[in-house]
Amino acid sequence: MHLDLDSGRLVIFLGGLMLFALLESLFAARRWQTSRLKRALFHASVAAVNTVLIRVFVYVPFLMWVVYVEQQGWGISRWLGLEGWLEVLLSLIVLDAFDYFWHRANHRVPFLWRFHKAHHADVEMDVTTALRFHPGELLLSAFAKAGWVLLWGPTAIAWFVFEGLISLCAQFHHSNIDLPDRVERWLSRIIVTPRFHTSHHVVDRRYGDANFSTIFSFWDPLFGSYNQVPSAQLTDDAIGLPQGRDRTLSYRVWFSEPFSRRNTGLA
Ligand SMILES: [Zn+2]
Repeated sequence: MHLDLDSGRLVIFLGGLMLFALLESLFAARRWQTSRLKRALFHASVAAVNTVLIRVFVYVPFLMWVVYVEQQGWGISRWLGLEGWLEVLLSLIVLDAFDYFWHRANHRVPFLWRFHKAHHADVEMDVTTALRFHPGELLLSAFAKAGWVLLWGPTAIAWFVFEGLISLCAQFHHSNIDLPDRVERWLSRIIVTPRFHTSHHVVDRRYGDANFSTIFSFWDPLFGSYNQVPSAQLTDDAIGLPQGRDRTLSYRVWFSEPFSRRNTGLA
């Protein structure tokens, strides 16, 4: 079977989704308050709408941009003459750092938060939360990423590795998996774990406006934004936004989130 890079991405994406959904069933950190099937169907349809809206108009031109920048030899990584696995590894670290600052901006800049809060409106968290993004956020982040590509100049291969890892890591750290304490302690020093990221989804903004890392977890301690919620505070109503909590699986509420005036806790 011939697998191009794009089908490879789809296989990784679906494989990750099934693997983490299975692990959640076996080692759940919290019990579900709504039907898992209902959540899965809602978030899958959100992802389907996003795929239709974003894929043709945003994703295809974006990939052409990545290839074009590589052909032109633009960007810091090209000027440094980075090649092979070293280029892929360094690109991964640098792009993940950009992603950290972009995520932080999504919480600090009111215009960006309007779109990003559609993701945070989920009052529970499992692997399907990783599918819950507003198309407006995906559009804005495509522009931000086009800028990073121009600045850093990753090869197309490095970009695919980065995107593949981002999607796997997002599925993993949104999943409702309870890792054994020992594993959690060492793993969360290197990569973002479900416990590390659940803290970022709590209503209390002291924790919600912290732990912004996506792949590597060391950006938060490095840039002073690490704040882990004590597990005792992770009660049934700890996750999400302070208002509109009974309508998180509504298409209308989800789509109109950027335009709603409800208080969502942004200082
Ligand atoms: Zn966030």
